Amino acid sequence: MIELAKPGLLEWLRESRPSRLAELYQWANEVRRERVGDAVHLRGLIEVSSHCVRQCMYCGLRRGNHDLPRYRMTREEILDCVRLAEKLGYGTVVMQAGEDDALTGEWIAEIVRWIKRETTLAVTLSLGERQPDELQLWRSAGADRYLLRFETSDENLFRVIHPSSSSGGPDRLTLLRQLKSLGYEAGGGVMVGIPGQSFESLADDILAFRALNLDMIGIGPYIAHPATPLGSGVLRPEIAPSEQTPSSEEMIYKMIALARIACPDANIPSTTALATINKVDGRKLGLQAGANVVMPNLTPVKYRSLYEIYPAKACIGETPTDCNQCLRGQLRSINRFVGEGQGGRGAYHEILSVPPDARSEFVQLQAG
Ligand code: SAM
Ligand code: SF4
Repeated sequence: MIELAKPGLLEWLRESRPSRLAELYQWANEVRRERVGDAVHLRGLIEVSSHCVRQCMYCGLRRGNHDLPRYRMTREEILDCVRLAEKLGYGTVVMQAGEDDALTGEWIAEIVRWIKRETTLAVTLSLGERQPDELQLWRSAGADRYLLRFETSDENLFRVIHPSSSSGGPDRLTLLRQLKSLGYEAGGGVMVGIPGQSFESLADDILAFRALNLDMIGIGPYIAHPATPLGSGVLRPEIAPSEQTPSSEEMIYKMIALARIACPDANIPSTTALATINKVDGRKLGLQAGANVVMPNLTPVKYRSLYEIYPAKACIGETPTDCNQCLRGQLRSINRFVGEGQGGRGAYHEILSVPPDARSEFVQLQAG
């Protein structure tokens, strides 16, 4: 058993010997197999709106990026994506967007109610730092999960790269605790390789995942967007070069592996940002370092390139059906398979308690 206190985490984060890293990935993979199984859960991602009122220094959707044409999907377009998710055999839809005031509480709630009434899908929302009454309304409407990455646990760096909203409001860590108390499965996560981010703060991120008891943990590389202050180099948070974390593939695999070991039964995606920096093998290697979720894109192709968080995003021109086929092929090639049902936290242990010949029926009953 390695030491999962900060010094041990730091050692792993600075480790570069291939033989030692292979041991780490193998360990994480064993924990993953034992605690969440070999199934990979597919969450269909719908990028509902690229409008955003915020000015995050790293993100291409920031309000200050006037060169980006914006879109907002209609209700019917969203419902078409939801129907497609069911047809493709996904267990969850994720509605993600910039912080867009035009996505009102009631408008989103009505869509959530429709999905819960008409389908067996789980609903995940990722709509930014919204008001407590909206989060409560969506939960009452049936939303199951909420994703809100805290990006870095380094408070000073976070303040610099993520200016507060004009209305103030609680920080993301507080919001994650509120989401859990509302009964959501809560997902946090970080970018790796942010300018100014130290190895030490990455170790703190892992400890924060565990302290928050997160149900989902998203980890991806920071990818510079030239139309942002951080990506263009206009903003350069100070840090000693030896302390700066790289935004390399290897750092992501290490972080995924450590997150899996620290939080054994969390759902951990192999992210699109990882697939962007290694378009051939990134997703598979993430799954082999401890991840158990993938989020194939369901957004209509005409909008894909406009949801430009960072440049050259993976799968930008693929139709949802192409994405689905490509992913299933990738899973087969690493002896993994698509998970049945909604795949919430703890689903694996529930299913293990059911006799093998009754498991399919059990999953359907659970989805209601
Ligand atoms: N607006 C919502 C929010 O901020 O939570 C959801 C959409 S936001 C685009 C989703 C995530 O994209 C962020 O939490 C951040 O981690 C990631 N992201 C933004 N800019 C990025 C960049 N330049 N490189 C990598 N990931 C980025
Ligand atoms: Fe908006 Fe989210 Fe991008 Fe920040 S990270 S600018 S809140 S879309």
